[in-house]
Amino acid sequence: MLDNIKDAVKKFLGNSSYDKAVEEFIKDLQKALITSDVKVSLVLSLSNNIKQRLAKEKSPSVMERKEWFISIVYEELSKFFGGDRAPNVLPSKLPYVIMMVGVQGSGKTTTTAKMAYFYKKKGYKVGLVAADTYRPAAYDQLVQLGKQIQVPVFGDPSSKDAVGISLRGKEEFLSQKFEVIIIDTAGRHGYGEETSLLEEMQSIYDAVKPDDVILVIDASIGQKAYDLASKFHKVAPIGSIVITKMDGTAKGGGALSAVAATGAQIKFIGTGEKVNELEVFDPRRFVSRLLGMGDINTIIEKMKEVEDYEDLQKKMEDVIEGKGKLTLRDIYRQFVALRKMGPLSKILQHIPGMGVNLPSPSEDQVKLGEDKIKKFMAAMNSMTYKELDNPSIIDRSRIRRIAEGSGLTAEDVRELMRQYEATNKMLKTLKKRKKDLEKMFGN
Ligand code: GDP
Repeated sequence: MLDNIKDAVKKFLGNSSYDKAVEEFIKDLQKALITSDVKVSLVLSLSNNIKQRLAKEKSPSVMERKEWFISIVYEELSKFFGGDRAPNVLPSKLPYVIMMVGVQGSGKTTTTAKMAYFYKKKGYKVGLVAADTYRPAAYDQLVQLGKQIQVPVFGDPSSKDAVGISLRGKEEFLSQKFEVIIIDTAGRHGYGEETSLLEEMQSIYDAVKPDDVILVIDASIGQKAYDLASKFHKVAPIGSIVITKMDGTAKGGGALSAVAATGAQIKFIGTGEKVNELEVFDPRRFVSRLLGMGDINTIIEKMKEVEDYEDLQKKMEDVIEGKGKLTLRDIYRQFVALRKMGPLSKILQHIPGMGVNLPSPSEDQVKLGEDKIKKFMAAMNSMTYKELDNPSIIDRSRIRRIAEGSGLTAEDVRELMRQYEATNKMLKTLKKRKKDLEKMFGN
């Protein structure tokens, strides 16, 4: 399912022309999604969102353009598949009663057992209620599965009264202090008959008053999942969704995006027949896997750092223009950035108007050994916020205190202060140096 997106990413990264690579990637992505039965209008609005962001936003100077592009695709795809947060699948209160609904054959009974196993492994005392009275084998199937995962099953194969069984099962387990009770109800109607499925759900719902209602949908129905999920989402005030058989169909992308488009929450996905083949559905994790980038998180982390870095850049720009002064807190951030992004000269080179021809200031004033950076950071860690923001208040007694607090000598702290002043001075002279250079070389 959607395996070709991984190939598209590889192709994209290997392409030497950025613009052509972007164009081809978007086409490949569209093709992959449409093949996976995603609705064409959804695909188009996704690609439009990506294109609009490319046109509106600027790629951060320290991030490669290709990485930036992938991070945008990642964010937009995550939204497309349901948002940027994993669902909260743990019970919001105890005891917690879950009611399962779904069309026959969707994998409802299997999923009921999978979820019981999931909660059992999390340490909850779990009980199952077999209230699917329509399908004759459903009771035996659940009992069988219950045995396998060692979870008790309440049921009455001689009765057809699903509401009665649900209520008795719930009461029975509550009286024995069970914490999570999952009721497998009858889902006898086929797709296209959502109304009767939902009506039936309503009567059990009114009687049992579950804490969550979960609709099970077979991924192979693809974009048809939209109608079912949206109707369900409207009638069940606390409804969430499990999409099963993600392993066995090419249409999983269609089902996931269709359900996400209704605003319903997808809690789990089924990825196989075995009881442990159930995953909490985290759109972001799902998308990182689609993109085939184990290190996509590194890119996202980098995005966050970039924001801080740009902020610092802006501040340095101001100082160069003669506005204000860096604080020690800025110097601290500069050290952090230095370690992650490379030398200060690189930051300066990216400041608009400061061409790469500028002699690197890092050579003299800024190039510091790792040891020194460690010492300086230790000193700054011993300072108060007030001191970091107003270094001019740091007098002799404060220097002594900071030295003691950080296990350094007073001379180390003084050296930091000198370095701090030198950096500010250096920035202030840059503008002049640049002008002089321009005069000399005429550029
Ligand atoms: P129900 O009628 O909705 O209760 O459906 P069942 O739970 O009996 O499942 C129908 C069939 O789908 C069974 O053969 C299950 O083993 C199979 N099934 C359920 N979930 C999954 C899944 O995530 N992946 C695969 N491959 N098969 C599944």
